[in-house]
Amino acid sequence: MTALAGQRARMVEEQLRARGIRDPRVLAAMSRVPREAFVESEHIRDAYGDHPVPIGAGQTVSQPYIVAAMVEALELRPQDRVLEVGTGTGYEAAILAELAAEVWTVERHAELAEKAREILAGLGYSEVHVVHGDGSLGLAEQAPFDKILVAAAAPRIPESLVSQLADGGRLVAPVGSRSEQQVHIARKQGRETIVTTHELCRFVPLVGAEGWEG
Ligand code: SAH
Repeated sequence: MTALAGQRARMVEEQLRARGIRDPRVLAAMSRVPREAFVESEHIRDAYGDHPVPIGAGQTVSQPYIVAAMVEALELRPQDRVLEVGTGTGYEAAILAELAAEVWTVERHAELAEKAREILAGLGYSEVHVVHGDGSLGLAEQAPFDKILVAAAAPRIPESLVSQLADGGRLVAPVGSRSEQQVHIARKQGRETIVTTHELCRFVPLVGAEGWEG
């Protein structure tokens, strides 16, 4: 086992399993995806650190635990079509692709979208489609989605995203102030959407029409 693969295995045990991530499919996906491929070479030593890592354009990739917790909350099924808002490095999109049929991911910074597209293609994730744009409005032309994951902090759950959820679908998003949020899970059932609130978290802001002003 290479040193980085060893760090990955330790991350899964010590940061995920020990803290209550239980879904075996999520643990397996986090064991497979090489996080080091998504971070800049200067941050490789931090790739499996228990903290966010800078990714350029003033953004960060979340710590592994919060990625696992949010992905677990989506309750992905192999046939799901998923929308991710906030591609960043593409790491979380790769985790989603391990667990679902198709992933659409939207990033507002063109240079991050381009880099993520290259890394994901290089690793063979052909089921991931990276789109440059304002993901707070979702991706109407590809809707409906079975699952939606918002990877940036929203002031409220964007209406556009709820409207693009399939019946029985589920959305997971950090919602709160610019500095602190709580994970929110929204489940759409017919005309009703039921929202529950969960753990505290800190994400970079969702900047866009249904997010914060830049
Ligand atoms: N999931 C990413 C990390 C997300 S960081 C990963 O695995 O690396 C949050 C990302 O959301 C940042 O890259 C930021 O530029 C992006 N973002 C913020 N507002 C956005 C918006 N309205 N639409 C799309 N992307 C947005």
